[in-house]
Amino acid sequence: MPRIKKVNEDILKKLEAFHGALVPGLIIGAYMVELAYDMLGDADLVDAAVESKKCIADSVQIMTGCTLGNGWLTVYDWGIFAITLFDKRGKDGVRVHLDTKKMPKESLTYKWFFRKVGKGSHDEVNKELLVFKKSILTYEFVKVNIKKEKSAKIMTCVKCAYPFPYDGSAECKSCRQGSYYINNNFH
Ligand SMILES: [Zn+2]
Repeated sequence: MPRIKKVNEDILKKLEAFHGALVPGLIIGAYMVELAYDMLGDADLVDAAVESKKCIADSVQIMTGCTLGNGWLTVYDWGIFAITLFDKRGKDGVRVHLDTKKMPKESLTYKWFFRKVGKGSHDEVNKELLVFKKSILTYEFVKVNIKKEKSAKIMTCVKCAYPFPYDGSAECKSCRQGSYYINNNFH
């Protein structure tokens, strides 16, 4: 998958198609990726982490090729506008966050961020973001300590009898944590 290191109209269209609508978080995420790549240097094997599972996660997936499915993206469901791109081997990386201190308080972006304006203003916020670009972002150099899980042995759950990756318990996570569905019958 090609990496897209700069924000342009083409990538914004791709993000819109992938996400379903061009919302402010996608544009912010796109500039976060651009800034992280700018500062990362020549690292050729790049992994990503995002601190929100919303819009910015989609920008990272489309632009970096680090996805949930290929395991190169780690998602923290913290609701924080921040991403990190890092060298897979050395773990040196760049964390970028949306910096409210760099936003004019009277800007629509500031009001949008603090949820003082509704979705109806997205187009106007987007226009502002395309002017702000990376100026409302702050970056820092970080050392990442994400530990990837090793492939586990497959066991059969003692409760539901489904095969699942063994993690020390005889019951699968669905049985332990409670399922998201109610099953009526098998076909
Ligand atoms: Zn089970």
